[in-house]
Amino acid sequence: MAVCLLFGSCQEKPNKLYEEGISLELAQLRKEEIKDLKYNLRFSIPEQKQEAVEGETRILFTIQKPQEIILDFRESADKVKEVSVNGQPSEYTFLNEHIILPEGSTIEGENEVHIRFTAGDQSLNRNDEYLYTLLVPDRARTVFPCFEQPNLKAEFTLQLEVPAEWEAVSNTSVASENVINGKKHITFRPTEPLSTYLFSFVAGKLKKVEYADGERILTAYHRETDPKKVAQLDVIFEQVASSLHWLEDYTAIPYPFAKYSFIILPGFQYGGMEHTGATLYNDTRMFLSEHPTLDEELARAKLIAHETAHMWFGDFVTMDWFNDVWTKEVFANYFAACIVEPLFPSVNHSLNWIKTYTTASLAEDRTQGSNSIRQPLDNLRNAGLIYGNIIYNKAPVMMQKLVEIMGEEAYQKGIQEYLKTYAYGNATWDDLIAILDSQTEEDLATFSDVWVNQKGMPHITFTNRCGQLEIRQRDPLNRGLIWPQRFQITFQGAEESASVEVNLTGETYALTVPLGTQAILPNTDERGCLFIPDEQSMEWLLAHWQETTEDTARQSLLMLLYENYQHRLISDKKWMDALMNGLKTEKNALIASTLCGYLGEPLQKLSNEALEKEIWNWTEKHPIASCRLQLIRCLISNASTPQSIDKLYDLWEKQNHPMLNERDYTNMAYELALHRPEKYEDIIKTQRERINNPDRLRQFDFISQAVTPDTLQMDAFFQSLLKAENRRIEPWAASALAYLNHPLRQPYSVKYIRPGLEVLEEVQRTGDIFFPKNWVSALLRNHKSKEAYQEVQAFFEAHPGYSPLLTNKILQAAWPLYREAANSLDM
Ligand SMILES: [Zn+2]
Repeated sequence: MAVCLLFGSCQEKPNKLYEEGISLELAQLRKEEIKDLKYNLRFSIPEQKQEAVEGETRILFTIQKPQEIILDFRESADKVKEVSVNGQPSEYTFLNEHIILPEGSTIEGENEVHIRFTAGDQSLNRNDEYLYTLLVPDRARTVFPCFEQPNLKAEFTLQLEVPAEWEAVSNTSVASENVINGKKHITFRPTEPLSTYLFSFVAGKLKKVEYADGERILTAYHRETDPKKVAQLDVIFEQVASSLHWLEDYTAIPYPFAKYSFIILPGFQYGGMEHTGATLYNDTRMFLSEHPTLDEELARAKLIAHETAHMWFGDFVTMDWFNDVWTKEVFANYFAACIVEPLFPSVNHSLNWIKTYTTASLAEDRTQGSNSIRQPLDNLRNAGLIYGNIIYNKAPVMMQKLVEIMGEEAYQKGIQEYLKTYAYGNATWDDLIAILDSQTEEDLATFSDVWVNQKGMPHITFTNRCGQLEIRQRDPLNRGLIWPQRFQITFQGAEESASVEVNLTGETYALTVPLGTQAILPNTDERGCLFIPDEQSMEWLLAHWQETTEDTARQSLLMLLYENYQHRLISDKKWMDALMNGLKTEKNALIASTLCGYLGEPLQKLSNEALEKEIWNWTEKHPIASCRLQLIRCLISNASTPQSIDKLYDLWEKQNHPMLNERDYTNMAYELALHRPEKYEDIIKTQRERINNPDRLRQFDFISQAVTPDTLQMDAFFQSLLKAENRRIEPWAASALAYLNHPLRQPYSVKYIRPGLEVLEEVQRTGDIFFPKNWVSALLRNHKSKEAYQEVQAFFEAHPGYSPLLTNKILQAAWPLYREAANSLDM
């Protein structure tokens, strides 16, 4: 397979085929040469998580001629126990995470490679009573030797040996199961063609619940002990079923895999992961606490719809290489919004769209660490860093614009053709655009080039000159780019308002302002990019935004002001006043929730008794129940005056608030321990006694170490987090790191910044997809000081040529530090 010998004359130039990870070159070569791929896998899983998982694989494939074979296995050489090819023991070289089989061991046509090995633990997520694999994007190779690349789809047949009382779930249903000598032996049916990142199994003490959706049986597995939470499975099943029906209707393709089951796991790293037949979900996202807010319910439904949409978009048709991973995420989120709509008929979904996708997109796109939707990827080992808000949130915003250009019907036809053409196979963004292009007269290539291949967004200004309005877009990165976009502007008169649609395809757009206009409200549907009003309009908007009667327009204006606040074009005081004015009159739960989310930042900065008192008042009298709850949560995280801390302590101690739940009281315990260090031991002991579920107790014991007042213990705990084995449960590690860097501890914990950044490359290597960003965000988000900024800068200076993808993650997380630096002369 290799174009030159391993240690031959090509060695002056490092040969990319043999480098660590999977280079694009290796993937392309293997795609050409390896056909008809099948894996027969067997794993023996002991009850004790300290004992090794032993495995065996038979890899079957066809090649045109005898050739060198490069397999991927990211473990130490001693984990490979035995290798044979076509029935004969074979020599092999173990190099840079590869098992390399010599040409002489292979034959033309069908080959069978048999390897006995010890599985690496990194992606087995081993806990005391259960384990689960999470192999996206390139972690199958940590568990078993394979050809790790999304476009070498294979049929997997799995056998597991587990403790007799455990359940096991995988992509397909069980073909046979029997217990021999206290061990359960399970064989699963062969899968449909799957990429390695979609192969998965879960085993452990799990409860199983079934649900009949017509002929189809859906199965859930979980470890929850609270009956009120378990009862929520009914609504979860209904939402899974309606997602499946919606997608079958839209795509005209019946669910393309043999079975549908999902597993709800404590401490799961992501919201969900779309393994066919074994979708994984995070327990806190599925089992909501009592009195869930509307946002939490919408987010759960969206997550279910998202993972279910992946069955068609990602699992059935898969990206060719992970540079296009966004093509599966854009569909999953775009269609999730469509699927959720009929489930919540009373919700304003265009408002919810901008609140969800546009907000999250702006959060990264405004920073120096922003990236284009499509990013180059030279090696699969960096695939995890491609993920972020841009692909999850800006991409659907872009997709909505593309649908606007094409029209719904042509778009749906294009999507159906795309799925039919690439069924059980792989496709690139260009393949998709080619199909969509054939359905429309519009120029999709130019649109795609700026929206998909370029980073950032334009700044748009409005100038009203004697009744002539000029709208102008400007590329803040001075590349002279033009972003075609449509948005609405509203002319507000004394009595009534009128809205017009602007189709901004060039740099400027002019229109006449109707007579009697008192204010021009830009972007009242939030489909446009960052609008910077002139000073007079800004004052008007700050004072009157909340009077806008149409809900989507009101949300849009609130978001517009927030974006200007983020760019420091509005002071903390003025922003807080505008928010409090809104809070007084807001009737829409989603807008109220946005308001509550925005309050924290200026509240921390302005910290004063009168303001906190006013917010406490609203926690009792606001007409929207979820808003009252969100305001208390805002105070838990951001209040700092002694009066508020007394009040919170009292609430926590009595534990009798009608809406707060165990998670709220636990968060309060952490915050109170920080505010009242003298009571730390009491607080932690009391809260610990209140927690019954063993998984949540383990979580509490881990995170509560971070709120100790003893600086020696803090330092020791921080040092322990620098070791991969102590970061295994990533959401817990990120929470703990954020508490170590709590705003109250800023001056002390500045010293954690450098070592926390130094370890980031290793965090990427040992952690899962979202962890580098979550790690660096937990480390930096609470720091506001000049010293903190200097630490980050010093890190970059000490590491010239640092990974651009990781640099972006740091710059995204350090946005407030860089913004303050840019706005302050003494920094
Ligand atoms: Zn997804």
